[in-house]
This record gives sequence, structure tokens and C-alpha cells, in this order.
Amino acid sequence: MTSTLPETLPFPSVHRTRLTTLQVNLGYRCNQTCSHCHVNAGPWRKEMMARELIELIPEVLARLDLHCLDLTGGAPELHPQFRELVSAARDLGVNVIDRCNLTILSEPGHEDLAEFLAAMGVRVVASLPCYEQERVDLQRGQGVYERSIAGLKKLNRLGYAQPGSPLQLDLVYNPSGPSLPPAQEPLEVQYREALASSHGIAFSHLLTITNMPIQRFARDLQHQGQLEPYQRVLREAHRPDNLNAVMCRSLISVSWTGALYDCDFNQQLNLASGSGPRQLADLLRVVDGLIDQPIAVADHCFGCTAGNGSSCGGSLS
Ligand code: SF4
Ligand code: SF4
Repeated sequence: MTSTLPETLPFPSVHRTRLTTLQVNLGYRCNQTCSHCHVNAGPWRKEMMARELIELIPEVLARLDLHCLDLTGGAPELHPQFRELVSAARDLGVNVIDRCNLTILSEPGHEDLAEFLAAMGVRVVASLPCYEQERVDLQRGQGVYERSIAGLKKLNRLGYAQPGSPLQLDLVYNPSGPSLPPAQEPLEVQYREALASSHGIAFSHLLTITNMPIQRFARDLQHQGQLEPYQRVLREAHRPDNLNAVMCRSLISVSWTGALYDCDFNQQLNLASGSGPRQLADLLRVVDGLIDQPIAVADHCFGCTAGNGSSCGGSLS
């Protein structure tokens, strides 16, 4: 069901159910500079999480009995304590997601990264906005497609997305412009057929994600006079039933400075939670899993509830 929300009506209120996932942004340094990057990451960025904060993360995971540590950036693997953190979380039995850009797997000094991820049983979630070269290179940079394909082949060789293997490799699709992603399942079939026939590549699932009209993408849209029309598209496609599944209901996002936000998008907008803990260390004192905590919502949230819905785990419907 699509809503008929009047233009002035704010995004509906949302409350947390129970916290299961800690999503940590380890820093903004990245070896790529994609046009849709909502964190403005790039090789020139210096921001990185301090060692004292990294060391707090396993304590928080254990204290709150969290199921999942979701690592993002920038390229999270560029953080000098990335491997140490992954090992500590896996020792606790916590599932670890690495939001991997694939080209990092062939960066000098990271050639053994894929082997490490496989040995640790890390779930890899990798952006591949198309199964064809032209669009990937346009959105993510010249030469990215070829290196991404090489990265996927390497992961497959190590057991990722292979029959009977527990190693999970998911791909992320986002549209090239200001439009909603198509339905996830039929697109997954197309991806599977295209990547298998052209490159012999297998993957576990395709996750479709809506482009958030914030940061670099919002500035590009503004420049093209497309920002307001796109915001209208998202608002007009709002589906109230998606509110039950938005990721902020079970996730909390930690910035490289240790500040807490209700999701990575709010983090990039510096939109802090209205109440509750503010810093990573405060989570050590939480007793109720943040149940019923109000989420800080704003107009960009329509990007999560439009159409089939969108989250870091793909479509919500
Ligand atoms: S790989 Fe990811 S973090 Fe890096 S620039 Fe691209 S979208 Fe941003
Ligand atoms: S943008 Fe963040 S706070 Fe808003 S609905 Fe989506 S996940 Fe929740």
C-alpha cells in the first residue's frame, strides 16, 4: 500500500524494538571516490576510530548480547585495527559483516585480506551497482569493474557463495540516478545469470538499496535541479507497512568518534538521537536493550520506506 502523505506531513514516529546490531563506521578513508557515496569518503580522508574506542566494541557486544557487528567506512579494512576487531568479535561468537568495496582486496598491502575474511567466517557485503562494466565504472570509478570481478572470483575460490559453504557473499545494487530500485528478486535472477555466464561468478543474495538524498548525492542532484523532484518521488512512494522493518528499529550506528546515532544516514547528517545513550561507552550501562527508545527521524527517512523499502540489508518487502 502506498501512502497519500500530504507534502507537509512529517515522517511518522519510529521506536526501537530491541537492539541486535552494532554498526560501526571505522573511518572515512577509502581507496575509491564513488559518486553516490553518502559519507564523502576518499583516499584523502584522515578520520579513523581511535584504538581505545575499538577496544570498547567487544565489551559492548558482550554486554548487550548483540548478534551482529556491521563494519563500514570508508573502506573499513583500511583501519589498522580492523583484523584485531574482527577476531575479537568472532571469538565472542558474533556475526561480522564487512561492507567491502571489492577493490580493496587487490590494494597493495591487502592481498591476503580475502583469505583473512574467509578464515574468520566474515559475511562480505559488496557494492556492484550493475553486472556490466560501463555503469560500474561510471558510478564507482574507472577500472573498478574489472577489479571488482577479480575480487569476486577470489572470494568464490575461497569458498564464498559455494554450495555447502557457510561463507556468505552478498552484492548491493543501487540505482544510478534519482529513482527507486526495481524489485529485488527478479533483479537478483538477472544478476545471477549475467555474472555466471560472463564470469562464472556466484553470490548469495542481491540487496537493493535506495539512494539517500544526502551528502555527495544530494549535492549532485541539487546541481542538476533534481533534488526536490527526487525527494517528492520518495515521499509519494512511502509505504507505512515498511515502518515495521526499518533498520533503525534493531540497529545502532557508531561514528568514528564513538558518537551514537540511530543509523548511518543520521550519522552523516549529524542527527543525534533525541534521548538515550550518546557515546559508545554509554552502551556499557544500558540495561534494557534500548527497547522503545524513540528514533530521530526526518525527511530523508522516506528513502527507507519508499516503494519496496530499503535498509543495509536490502529491500524490506
Ligand atoms: S567504496 Fe563505499 S565508502 Fe568508498 S567511496 Fe565508494 S561508496 Fe564511499
Ligand atoms: S534514515 Fe535511518 S532513522 Fe530514518 S528510517 Fe531510515 S534507518 Fe531509520
